[in-house]
Amino acid sequence: MKKEAIKEMSAQIIDGKKISEEIKYELSEEISILKNQKKIPGLATILVGDDPASATYVRMKEKMCNELGILTKSFKLPSQTNEIELLSIINKLKNDVEIHGILVQLPLPEHINATNVINSLPENKDVDGLHPASWGKMMKGEDTFLPCTPAGIQELLLRSGYNPEKKHVVIVGRSQIVGLPLANILVRKTAGANATVTVCHTGTKDISLFTKQADILIAALGRPEVITMEMVKEDAVVVDVGVNRVEAPETKKGYRLVGDVHFESVSRKVKAITPVPGGVGPMTIIMLMKNTVKSAKQTLL
Ligand code: NAP
Repeated sequence: MKKEAIKEMSAQIIDGKKISEEIKYELSEEISILKNQKKIPGLATILVGDDPASATYVRMKEKMCNELGILTKSFKLPSQTNEIELLSIINKLKNDVEIHGILVQLPLPEHINATNVINSLPENKDVDGLHPASWGKMMKGEDTFLPCTPAGIQELLLRSGYNPEKKHVVIVGRSQIVGLPLANILVRKTAGANATVTVCHTGTKDISLFTKQADILIAALGRPEVITMEMVKEDAVVVDVGVNRVEAPETKKGYRLVGDVHFESVSRKVKAITPVPGGVGPMTIIMLMKNTVKSAKQTLL
């Protein structure tokens, strides 16, 4: 009886892995049509240095490319690589007809100016949606490559039946890869967006004042389990973007991954929640694939 009561209170778990599989299936159909037209989508991945989390992300992206039949060219560069060497690789990839997307895994080592690198990406291969030209178009609502994590979050909400239209979306975090572009995407006067958006950050006096009002709460702070049960309302939908390694000596790896939301307690209160891992992460990867396929298609026009 007690077990039943707890179960009734548990949130729906939004399965990002399953939704990304649906998109993967749709993409595989598009890729086979492209292959019939002798066009194989191609993605170049560039990893500088040996940050283990970055290496894992790149490996996962390459694995997905292989599963979908997207060609990959992989550049694993030592951490002492200088900016000129990196820019020269990007320059060569600009003219590589087999490559439709260039992914530079961030963060880059400190001695490399990330802005210079991002600005050097060709707009037509900017499948991560980082270049200022892509941003300009995004801001104006023009067709472009949208940054993968925010685009993935919108897709995740729509496909799980939580259209942000007319909802109050509260985003905690204003980074250039998550919070800011997501706010722009969800505030647009278009179907599947049209939300009222509040963005919180470290300059917000009391974030819980806002998080408590959220119909849809997006946590993208990069701080482990900061969003607690007291900070959310009962019928909220919570999207946890955070991926944080916390020490766990009892595990084989010595750490475990947690989100920015205290899943254990928050999932007992809200209507729906994404898990970490298995929520936003798979969506980010599949949106990169989607942008690469879109880019390959554009070369046929
Ligand atoms: P970021 O660049 O470090 O930005 C964090 C943002 O959160 C900043 O705007 C910061 O405010 C704000 N913030 C930090 N602590 C806060 C606090 N206590 N109260 C209010 N605001 C706070 O991080 P990011 O790149 O956006 O990434 C956020 C998290 O998402 C990380 O855990 C990252 O690993 C994860 N992530 C996951 C995916 C995925 O695919 N699953 C993709 C991208 C990122 P200020 O601007 O004032 O400093």
